[in-house]
Amino acid sequence: VIAVRNLHKSYGKTPVLRGVDLAVAKGETVCVIGPSGSGKSTLLQCLNGLEPFESGEVIVAGQHIGWGRGGARIPEREMTFARRRIGIVFQQFNLFPHMSALANVMEAPVQVLKRPRAVVEAEARALLARVGLAHKADAYPADLSGGQQQRVAIARALAMQPEVMLFDEVTSALDPELVGEVLAVMRGLAKDGMTMLVVTHEMGFAREAADRVIFMDGGLVVEQGPPAEVLGRPREARTREFLGRVL
Ligand code: ATP
Ligand code: MG
Repeated sequence: VIAVRNLHKSYGKTPVLRGVDLAVAKGETVCVIGPSGSGKSTLLQCLNGLEPFESGEVIVAGQHIGWGRGGARIPEREMTFARRRIGIVFQQFNLFPHMSALANVMEAPVQVLKRPRAVVEAEARALLARVGLAHKADAYPADLSGGQQQRVAIARALAMQPEVMLFDEVTSALDPELVGEVLAVMRGLAKDGMTMLVVTHEMGFAREAADRVIFMDGGLVVEQGPPAEVLGRPREARTREFLGRVL
């Protein structure tokens, strides 16, 4: 579902991704770990067409994304279609503050996909139930905890029926006691066969929920493999050094 080949990206003169290769198969949950500044967020932004890149190939859900080969940009229209098939959730919840939880989840399918309101509402209620918030459908973001807001944000992304979900440190801004409820929702998605690429500092989640763990450092994939190997007996010195600091 995701294929990245030899992806290079710089901000100005600073190389940030220096030849990233990555593949995520349908139904797979892949966790990306690595030190701050290693390029994890930049990678997700290239996958979603939010950031241009200099060279390399990015294919998500069957679509070429972005500014690949020779700098030729994919037409905006195609990019828009591609983006709809990619759900993304960030550290900041970014809910629409003037809309209820239910309205937040319904917004894109109704406004962007022009689907019938009644059908979308039924689906949106089912999604809120799936993230454990059926009883909060009418609550506004300001009246929800951070963990609840983040779960609404996940439901909102799922409402577009994406082929793949990207998560960028979605629990980093949460109080510790709220982290578990969000990770539980993500575990459920993984179990249900959603294809997920998860940037996370939660090593426990990576160990239990990931099919594969990727360690990035300095804009490169340094090491990848099953969680028991990468987290349990890493081959690379840089991976060991990083794990020594975070575990
Ligand atoms: P973190 O764990 O802190 O989120 P990260 O692995 O997600 O880190 P990125 O956010 O991808 O790292 O950043 C990689 C590098 O690119 C960093 O050196 C950062 O300073 C730089 N960078 C990121 N965004 C921009 C930007 N918009 N303009 C210029 N430089 C940027
Ligand atoms: Mg980041």
